[in-house]
Amino acid sequence: EQLYQIQGWGDPYFSINRAGHITVSPQGDRGTSLDLYQLVEALRKRNIGLPVLIRFPEILADRVERLYACFDRAISRYNYPGTYRGVFPIKCNQHRHLVESLVEFGQRHQLGLEVGSKPELMIALASLNPSQFNQKKEEKSLLICNGYKDQEYIETAILSRRLGYETIIVVEQLEELALIQSVSAELNIKPVIGVRAKLSTRGTGRWGSSTGDRAKFGLTIWQILEVVKILESSQKLDCLQLLHFHVGSQVSSISVIKEAIREAAQIYVELSHLGANLNYLDVGGGLAVDYDGSKTNKNNASKNYNMQNYANDIVAEIKEACEQAEIPAPTIISESGRAIASHQGVLIFDVLGSSEQPIIPPPVVEEEEHLIIRNLWETYALINEENYQEAYHDAIQFKQEAISLFNFSYLSLKARARAEQLYWACCNKIFEIIKNQENVTEELQELAKVLTSIYYINLSVFQSSPDHWAIDQLFPIMPIHRLNENPSQRAILADLTCDSDGKISQFINPKGKLPKNFLELHPLENNQPYYIGMFMVGAYQEIMGNLHNLFGDTNVVHIRTHPQGYKIEQFVRGDTISEVLEQTQYSGEALLENLRRHTEQALEKDLISLAESRHLLKNYERSLSHYTYLKKED
Ligand code: PLP
Repeated sequence: EQLYQIQGWGDPYFSINRAGHITVSPQGDRGTSLDLYQLVEALRKRNIGLPVLIRFPEILADRVERLYACFDRAISRYNYPGTYRGVFPIKCNQHRHLVESLVEFGQRHQLGLEVGSKPELMIALASLNPSQFNQKKEEKSLLICNGYKDQEYIETAILSRRLGYETIIVVEQLEELALIQSVSAELNIKPVIGVRAKLSTRGTGRWGSSTGDRAKFGLTIWQILEVVKILESSQKLDCLQLLHFHVGSQVSSISVIKEAIREAAQIYVELSHLGANLNYLDVGGGLAVDYDGSKTNKNNASKNYNMQNYANDIVAEIKEACEQAEIPAPTIISESGRAIASHQGVLIFDVLGSSEQPIIPPPVVEEEEHLIIRNLWETYALINEENYQEAYHDAIQFKQEAISLFNFSYLSLKARARAEQLYWACCNKIFEIIKNQENVTEELQELAKVLTSIYYINLSVFQSSPDHWAIDQLFPIMPIHRLNENPSQRAILADLTCDSDGKISQFINPKGKLPKNFLELHPLENNQPYYIGMFMVGAYQEIMGNLHNLFGDTNVVHIRTHPQGYKIEQFVRGDTISEVLEQTQYSGEALLENLRRHTEQALEKDLISLAESRHLLKNYERSLSHYTYLKKED
């Protein structure tokens, strides 16, 4: 358990059972638990191949409940006179089944949606439940419209108010204001407007530049004042009801959140004093998740606070600022995406094979062998805990000399092979000494890297964990079975693409230490599948994945539990080869026809037999409807 830190990042959803398999408890501490390994086997029996992304909608529901419960507790703890409302930023995961589940689970809290583009607005409008006629403002479905906007976007957003949505258009650029004003005048519908502030508080981590003077989005303070001036001069200042900010995603330090909320609360107070009819303060996203279970802010894989601390600080800061200024407390909105959607998505993939530096017993060295080989042998034989560092240098030097001797034809190919074998034997012996040591030199860390096995995985990193490839984001990764056995191999994972970046060689490390450059795995067993899970991939990964080497979307299943077990609620088949070909403007039919012509030509010239051409065409045609990933025969 400690090796993979599962308690740290997995609690309360993932743990290890007696059989050495991962257990999933989608409702947290309550409800039915599932054996993940058995679930994967059951999916395979239904012909749902790997890789497969398993979504657990109940985890989604649990996350929403937790978020609301934290804000509820904070509100009663600080006697906050306002309320809290959540909106889910669709950008985090726009897939239909997931959004539908969220709307279903969020209904009882009126969980709203946040959109950042016109296509996202279109999803939201058709997915959210419009309110009943005459419903109060605080009971209406909340729709926050961020991102860059054109006339059509603004028209659609303003018209949606007629359906009963509490739609708020957030001005990200000053020019949008004139458009909002002219569209609303034309439609004769009063808009509700928000402004996104560029705070001076700097975020930290990978998305830290989402705020600050050079941020891509939002208005500077003088631009916000300009908005106030423009609205005031047209007697529309009452439309300005929301102040929004976003300090970036996965904010690992609570102090950044505190500082940002303090600054935003002051801006809110000042704008109210200027006559704006503000009643919403939207604190954006940023609530981090604990990918490495370390509960530290030492790297971007974790955070030094929990959801309750987050809610407490937000509620307390806003309350204090409003009380001091003697203005009504706003409805607090948060746009948490990662914290809601990450845990529900688990990607399972299989290992196709491995390559290891062979641990060969050192060859017996004879008296009459070349001096360089005898030197290597002697180095090997004498390695011990005291001299391993010098021995390593000697081994490197002797190996280099052996290669020079070979290049000048003083050493035969066979002798060179023996020299290399002895060199690797030295490395292995040294590695056995250093493998559990904390402080090894950089040079010997390199040795550990060289001796690491490569496990070839049935996956595309570009498609399924783009953040790992692009920005070194760490995700918890571990085998989902055989966890009662010693994982004696240290490995990195190489994916199916023909790209040397298509690998995973950085893994979470306990206690927030620097990432490990290997993962402990079990030796592969003949013809036995070996399944690995990548956890917490439910936010951002699916939509940002790309088709590198034409590996398409993976299979997706939604699993819902019931007291007796589970049901496969949805199965979304992954892309077939012809589907990915279509995305590059090929038609499977046309390609097949081209191939048929080629086989006719080859037949005419007697280059291929009829049986071979039939075999080739049949395979080609069948492959078009197959999954883009490899199928390992059982
Ligand atoms: N709101 C806005 C404006 C964003 O840009 C983002 C994402 O970066 C979010 C909300 C969601 O942030 P998170 O996933 O950190 O909750």
